[in-house]
Amino acid sequence: MKFDSIVLAMAMFAFSSFASAQAYPAKPVTMIVPFAAGGPTDTVARTIGAVMSKTLGQTVIVENVGGAGGTIGVGRVVAAPNDGYTILLMHIGISTAPALYRTLKYDVNKDLEPIGLVTEVPMTLIAKLAFPPKDLKELITFLKANKDKVSYANSGVGSASHLCGMLFMSAIQTDVLTVPYKGTAPTMTDLLGGQVDFMCDQTTNTTSQIKGSKVKAYGVTSMTRVASLPDLPTLNEAGLQGFSVGVWHGVWTPKGTPKAVNDKLVKALQDALKDDGVKARFAELGTAPEPLNRQTPEALRAHLAAEIANWGPIIKKVGVYAD
Ligand code: ASP
Repeated sequence: MKFDSIVLAMAMFAFSSFASAQAYPAKPVTMIVPFAAGGPTDTVARTIGAVMSKTLGQTVIVENVGGAGGTIGVGRVVAAPNDGYTILLMHIGISTAPALYRTLKYDVNKDLEPIGLVTEVPMTLIAKLAFPPKDLKELITFLKANKDKVSYANSGVGSASHLCGMLFMSAIQTDVLTVPYKGTAPTMTDLLGGQVDFMCDQTTNTTSQIKGSKVKAYGVTSMTRVASLPDLPTLNEAGLQGFSVGVWHGVWTPKGTPKAVNDKLVKALQDALKDDGVKARFAELGTAPEPLNRQTPEALRAHLAAEIANWGPIIKKVGVYAD
């Protein structure tokens, strides 16, 4: 090919990607959630996705790609075409996986483009109704005495329920059997059925079960009580001083997604997070949208880097790894 034809081909390619970024979205957008349908991350995704659809003028379809603590779903987005039609909603686990996995196939800082932070959700330490301990103090004593007989359910290494359980076990210096699932929706089903004993999960999945007295609740992982569960103490006040985990969520696109496309997604996210219906639903579930200045690519980029730096040494100290 001659030089001028190469230049022409390059210009046409640049123009067609510019034109398709301008026309974006021309078809439904798939939002990948790296956990099972019906769980807490899925709930956040579906709540904002429905409103993002209005700004985008196209449906946001949630697809659940669970497994390996969320790393399979994140990997799916990293490998997807960078055209804005596959986006990711993931949580704090994206910042713990780099320290937990020896062989992670992607670099979360480099292989994804941040869109913005969504919401930070507290977790709750809960158990099946028939579990004997009545409060946190009794729970700790019970676990120490029965560590070979009890089971802790989570969503696999790298999930928020894994992180919370790992920090809790490390704080009370006890280890119990852990049972991994593809998300805490199926975990909750088994907890209600009594097949597993206890777990730690976001209020976006546990609020109605706690309010309906379907599970035992020992505390929330935020430093202040949650307005929708006013009688539940914080783990900090119940005796685990300084215990604090907040499950922050963000939206990302694959690396190289055109800026014009990312800008439209930022606007759609910000519109969703100021929507009264979204705010009301989040409040019912014990959370709230992030402030506007955090609903931005810059804030998510900085937060992710800070969280990776924060969790790395903590995880190293606990000494948990996966392949
Ligand atoms: N709560 C889960 C976790 O442990 C995720 C989910 O099922 O949404 O990360």
